[in-house]
Amino acid sequence: MIIKRLVVGSLSANCYIVGSETAGEGLVIDPGGNAGDIFQAISDSGLDIKIIVLTHGHSDHIAALYDIQDRTGAEVAIHTADAQFLRGRGSFSMMFGISYKTPATPDRLLNEGDIIDVGGLNFSVLHTPGHTPGSICLLTDNKVFTGDTLFYRGIGTTLMPGSSRRQLIDSIHTRLMVLPDDTAVYPGHGRETTIGAERRNNPFLI
Ligand SMILES: [Zn+2]
Ligand SMILES: [Zn+2]
Repeated sequence: MIIKRLVVGSLSANCYIVGSETAGEGLVIDPGGNAGDIFQAISDSGLDIKIIVLTHGHSDHIAALYDIQDRTGAEVAIHTADAQFLRGRGSFSMMFGISYKTPATPDRLLNEGDIIDVGGLNFSVLHTPGHTPGSICLLTDNKVFTGDTLFYRGIGTTLMPGSSRRQLIDSIHTRLMVLPDDTAVYPGHGRETTIGAERRNNPFLI
């Protein structure tokens, strides 16, 4: 499996390009800025991008979505409860001081338990509300992409409208902390970690 991480945008979000070398197909998770760099990394990977999956609808994770969708022709998927963040293709939005072109209405609305199948890889959608109502984590083998739900020694902020700290903590405990200790965590900001390391050391969870 190819996993390429790029740090993008003024809020240093992690954009991931993930795929299967053998099938030559992949997906992009959270194209949050620097569209040119993301497109270059896609070209270097040789992957045909089939779908762009958004862990949630905040601008620091979607600011390059319009361009990446345009250049790859990939489908766009977001959880039903965050779909309101995507509207009016080509109009401009502003959030967190980031101005960006908004993409089309999503091609695919995700819900708990959905499976995204790309190049023979299966990604399960875990609905983990709290940071936003429609935040998701994507689980494949022993790897989980956690967006702004779980970070290295941290958790997503719940200071925004629509956020709920109680819900976020509950999501982490019931959906993520039930995974095996050696599950690799690929967060929406900052460095990689594991479920076991966060179970033992994350000050928000102990
Ligand atoms: Zn966010
Ligand atoms: Zn973020």
